[in-house]
Amino acid sequence: MSLRDLFRPKWRNSSPEVRLSMIDILSDATVLIQIAKADSDTRVRNAAIQKLAHSPQIAIRKEAVVLTDNEDLLVVMAKTDVDPDVRVIAIGKVRDPIALSKILNDAEVKLDIRLVALKRIDDQCVIEEVAKNNDLDFSMREAAIEKLTKQDALFHLSKNDEDEDIRVAAVERLQDKKLLQDIVNSDYHLLVRAAASDMLSKNIQRFLAEAVDGPSTCIIPIWQFNYLYFALTARLKKKGLTNSKIVDLVDEKLLGVCPDCATPSGGQGLSLKATYDRFGGVMLTGNTGGMEHLMEGTCRNQDCHSKTIIIFWRPDEDLGAVKRLAEMGIHVKHK
Ligand SMILES: [Zn+2]
Repeated sequence: MSLRDLFRPKWRNSSPEVRLSMIDILSDATVLIQIAKADSDTRVRNAAIQKLAHSPQIAIRKEAVVLTDNEDLLVVMAKTDVDPDVRVIAIGKVRDPIALSKILNDAEVKLDIRLVALKRIDDQCVIEEVAKNNDLDFSMREAAIEKLTKQDALFHLSKNDEDEDIRVAAVERLQDKKLLQDIVNSDYHLLVRAAASDMLSKNIQRFLAEAVDGPSTCIIPIWQFNYLYFALTARLKKKGLTNSKIVDLVDEKLLGVCPDCATPSGGQGLSLKATYDRFGGVMLTGNTGGMEHLMEGTCRNQDCHSKTIIIFWRPDEDLGAVKRLAEMGIHVKHK
């Protein structure tokens, strides 16, 4: 023991053993943080971090996660901490792919943490397993498909999955033109075919990319409309919009116009068509406004045989769209 040890607190003693023995007794978080950051002995630093990690205060546990590189501690905190922020910071620091994979597949772990684990994994085989596992939550499978690049696995999902949203999501990741063409030619499911057809032309994909943040327009075969509709609403939902907000926006801001006879179809009617085609429901009787023609893939106007529709999204915010519509006799006020 050096003479100076007589005049300073035990946690600053020259002997690491003495300092280590003090950690249990210390309760001052500021001092513990200082030790965790600066003590020259690894064991002392780790003991201080362990103590901080068990603090009842969230801010202090966060500090412990920030300070530690101990994978075991990070895994435990990612899995079990009661605070979501602490869990997310912890999982964000786990580097071991095997540990990440275990968390990903642990049904006891909260979904948000498993999703972060998935984002940190690069092994295509692990990602493929998640994508194919239909016992898992849709958001997990969708996030896996977004990371999946294996074309054979994506094709398999596109053709065989029970969930049509999963099949569409897989098609949207397919790059192989031959495989896409195969789906367009032979798939029994309209939404899946439409997605594949669009991937070959990239028409709706461009529309969707723009539509998330602002006005957009595209011209498509009417049979592709349902795919556009569900892809658009899914993207808006992903952006954080509530279902009721999306319904309002679509009612107000989606407009279809026939390129041949300029018959307009409002958002409400168009969404009715898409949801009826997909989910069924009470069909309109009496004056349907030609909705039954639209459902068969032709213009609402019974005297017109157009199979194409121009889709406008938020046209009131785009002067070009306002002018284009005015030329067709449809007047929208520019905002
Ligand atoms: Zn028409």
